[in-house]
Amino acid sequence: MAKKLKAFAIELWVLGMAAFLFGEMAGSKFLPILGIWVSISAILVSGIYFVMSMFGSAGTNDEPIIEAGEMILTQVDSTENFNDNENLDAGEWIKTTPLNELMDDPESMGLPVLGSSEDEVYRIASDLSSIRESFSIPEDGVYCPVCNVANADLQKLRTPCPTCGRELLTFGWD
Ligand SMILES: [Zn+2]
Repeated sequence: MAKKLKAFAIELWVLGMAAFLFGEMAGSKFLPILGIWVSISAILVSGIYFVMSMFGSAGTNDEPIIEAGEMILTQVDSTENFNDNENLDAGEWIKTTPLNELMDDPESMGLPVLGSSEDEVYRIASDLSSIRESFSIPEDGVYCPVCNVANADLQKLRTPCPTCGRELLTFGWD
């Protein structure tokens, strides 16, 4: 919508100026006035576009930055809030939620299908974690995708989960 508005404003402006210039050259009284009015409308439309962009509605509906299927996830769980780790002591564990419970088509995002076995969930999570580990993000914590718990201490990466003994995987908080 906003994108169309911008194109429309430009077209209107060009049309208005063309009418004005052509009218002047042809010695017409009517065309230059019409041209000026059309150009003024173009400025008004640009104003509406500007206001729409200010409020963030411009572009958001027309061009999603990431299509659902293209989004790259590097973990199979998340916590309820962003930056949950900030209030967490090194020894403290927080509950995580499997992301596939929150999505319609988890498989398209590289996540395990609902009802996958613990080993299957862990295998997928471990593969995704390997990708994330290669970036070594210092703010990351660790989690166990089977016990659904996370901890803010990245030093615990690939050490045994206190509950099930599987290696802890890297966990991003945002
Ligand atoms: Zn575990």
